[in-house]
Amino acid sequence: MKEKLKITSVDIYKADIEFKEPFRIAIMEILSAQSVFIKINTNEDLYGLGEANPTWGITGETQSINLAGAVDLARLLLNKDPLNIEGRMREIDRFLIHNSTLRSAFDMALYDLLGKVAELPLYAVLGGGKRSFWTDNTIGIADPDYMAKKALDYKNQGFQAIKVKLGTTTDQDIERIKKIRKAIGDDLPIRIDANQGWDYKTAVVTLQGLESMGIEYCEQPIACWDYENMRRIRQNTSIAIMADESLFDHHDAFKLASMGCCDYFNIKLAKSGGIHTALKINAIAESAGIRCMVGCMTETRLGLTAAAHVVSARPNIQYADLDGYLMLKEDPVIGGAHYNVGEINLPDTPGHGADIDPDFLKHCESTTVK
Ligand code: MG
Repeated sequence: MKEKLKITSVDIYKADIEFKEPFRIAIMEILSAQSVFIKINTNEDLYGLGEANPTWGITGETQSINLAGAVDLARLLLNKDPLNIEGRMREIDRFLIHNSTLRSAFDMALYDLLGKVAELPLYAVLGGGKRSFWTDNTIGIADPDYMAKKALDYKNQGFQAIKVKLGTTTDQDIERIKKIRKAIGDDLPIRIDANQGWDYKTAVVTLQGLESMGIEYCEQPIACWDYENMRRIRQNTSIAIMADESLFDHHDAFKLASMGCCDYFNIKLAKSGGIHTALKINAIAESAGIRCMVGCMTETRLGLTAAAHVVSARPNIQYADLDGYLMLKEDPVIGGAHYNVGEINLPDTPGHGADIDPDFLKHCESTTVK
């Protein structure tokens, strides 16, 4: 009889990739992608790959925190059945609370492995179909004229929606959108994201000032913990509100939906702790009549491909903001989601279909837990 599949070792890689330019949002500035790749190996010739791309100002994780935590989570998995994802993730989620980005890397690797065992692409493992879809492209906070120039450049490249980081003062933020609108004309939707930068009054005044400027929705106007004022902002503007930093897991989703705080959810694997909880969030959203976006941090195409499978598999996910890798100077990923400007197409290879270039890995510091 064939031996049961089990986890024999876990490789942990420190992966640093430079940005094309620094990326500023209301609460932090990011200068490079500092990822951790997780490779779960088995007693058969099959492995699963995952990526953690920590954003310290949002999830409380840094690359060094994730590298240390990864060793502990790897020990928890040794000799266990990787196909029991609910069981493995329950152990991981109970062992290490918070640290959602690190947990998501393990979750992603387990789903990749499941797809490889089933010989099915991940979207099919999730019970969904294959569809191509578009991501927007994001402009960080900068001088308004520079942001307008960048928006026009994205429009000329063929992007169908532009996301703009705001969250400073009312005057500056309105000037940014006015200049961008003037540069790109009226046909492209603009999505805005204040990343918690406003307080209640600034949010209401700024959003009311932007109502005539073709804003599709506004992400996270105020502090992540302030659900009550997010609900009040939603009542005082015609611009749709999307919860991002207020929404990590399914418990948050239930509260936000029950309180009527927002029109949309922004699901990110780095916040939910991976695909298994992302699916629970989407189910709560669907129950409450809320449609979702799947967003990203600054992952390589590996993490983005896993997220793209979730988008493809769930029709309730209406928007995608999977542009992280477009900011990177280097693409170390082989296979995976294909980007045609902003149009994303998934491969039919088993699992998520993304692998990492062995030449890139040779230059990464690594640890193996076995
Ligand atoms: Mg956001």
